[in-house]
Amino acid sequence: STVYLNGEFVPSDQAKVSVFDRGFLFGDAIYEVVSVIHGGIFDEVPHMERLERSLAKVGMPMPMSQEQFVHTILEVVDRNELDEGVVYMQITRGAGDRTFTYNSLVDAGMTQNIVMFAQHLNLLNAPAIESGLSIKTVPDIRWRRCDIKTVQLLGASLSKTAAAREGYNGIWFVDPDTHMITEGDSNNTFIVQGNTVISPGLHRNVLPGITRNVVKEIVEAAEGLEFEEADFGVDAALAADEAFATSAGLFVTGVTSLDGRPISGSKVGPITKRLRKLYIERALEHLTI
Ligand code: PLP
Repeated sequence: STVYLNGEFVPSDQAKVSVFDRGFLFGDAIYEVVSVIHGGIFDEVPHMERLERSLAKVGMPMPMSQEQFVHTILEVVDRNELDEGVVYMQITRGAGDRTFTYNSLVDAGMTQNIVMFAQHLNLLNAPAIESGLSIKTVPDIRWRRCDIKTVQLLGASLSKTAAAREGYNGIWFVDPDTHMITEGDSNNTFIVQGNTVISPGLHRNVLPGITRNVVKEIVEAAEGLEFEEADFGVDAALAADEAFATSAGLFVTGVTSLDGRPISGSKVGPITKRLRKLYIERALEHLTI
C-alpha cells in the first residue's frame, strides 16, 4: 500500500519515523479515522473539526488546513484504490530529546509528523450486522481525558484482547465509581427503551463520536423517535429493548448480548436496523469523491 508521510507518498515499507518521535515514546499523538464507502468519504468536516480540537487540547497546532487534510485523505483513497474501508491519520508532536516537558522541544524546532494510510475493510456487509455484537463489560481502566482522540490506546487494547480470547466481539467500559457504562473500546454506546434512544452524556469519560452525533440528529429528525442523554448501567442495558454501538467503522451495529446474557432476544432490534439504514442513506447522499 501507499502511505502518506509528511507531504510525500511512499511505499508502506519505506514509511519510517524516528525512534525519538514523541508519539512512539509518550503516545504524544492525535489520530482520526474517516470511513470510505463506494470510494468516497463523508462527515469529513466534523472529523477535521474534532482533529483540530484534539490537537488544541494537547497544545499542538494543525500542521495543515482542514481543506488540505481532506484533499490528502482523498489522495490516499485514490492512490490505494480504496473502495470501502477507512483512512487513518495520525499527527505526532515530533521527534526530540526525551523529556517530559515538551515546550523546550518545540522551542528547539521540533516538527510534527503526519501519517496517513488506508485500510480495506468490509463496512457495509460485515457479519456482525446480522448477528449483532457480543460485548463484555469491563472496568474503565483508561485515563480521564478520553474526550481527546489520542493514540494512548493500551487500556482499550489490553481489555479488548482479553475479551476476544474469551470469545467476545468487543467491550463496553464501566466506570468503576459510578458503575455506569461509558463507551466501547472504539465506539459509543446506546440503548433503546420504547421510542427513546439513549446514550451517555459527554460529561462521562467518552469521545464525542462523530457517528454518535449524526445518529443523534437522525433520531431527532425521525418520526416517532426521541433522543435522550442519560447514563445507564449493565442491568439497564440488559433490560433495554435494544442496544447498539456507533463508530466510523461500525456505523450503527446492534449489540445482542452483554456478558453472555441476551439483549432483545439476541436479535438486532428494529430501531437499530432503521437507524443503520437511515445512517447509510445519509452517508451516500453526502459522499465526497
Ligand atoms: N469512542 C472511542 C474510544 C473511539 O475510539 C471511537 C472511534 O474510534 C468512538 C468512540 C467513535 O467515534 P466516531 O463515531 O467518531 O468514530
